[in-house]
Amino acid sequence: MNKLTQRSCPRCDSQTLEVNRCYETQHHGDRKLYRCGACGEVFSQTRGTFLERLSKPLSTIVQVLKARSEGLGVNATCRVFDVAKNTLLNWERRHGSETLDLG
Ligand SMILES: [Zn+2]
Repeated sequence: MNKLTQRSCPRCDSQTLEVNRCYETQHHGDRKLYRCGACGEVFSQTRGTFLERLSKPLSTIVQVLKARSEGLGVNATCRVFDVAKNTLLNWERRHGSETLDLG
């Protein structure tokens, strides 16, 4: 499984995490909040990842990247999801360089 989100505490790097709660963001749909079991730090699912800085809904990005990983071509993916080619290539480049979880 690909990794799309951070699964360790940004403060102490512990992987003992609890899901704190879900919340809705303006542009990204539902997000999970995690709470570190070691130091109590609360952080969002996408904190520190490129997703934090994107304007498309997280669900769309996940679908797009999944479609690409299933072999759908760049141009076809752009048509299906109404995404600019540069945007898609940008996601893929960032996706390849960060630790992400598509689950
Ligand atoms: Zn921690």
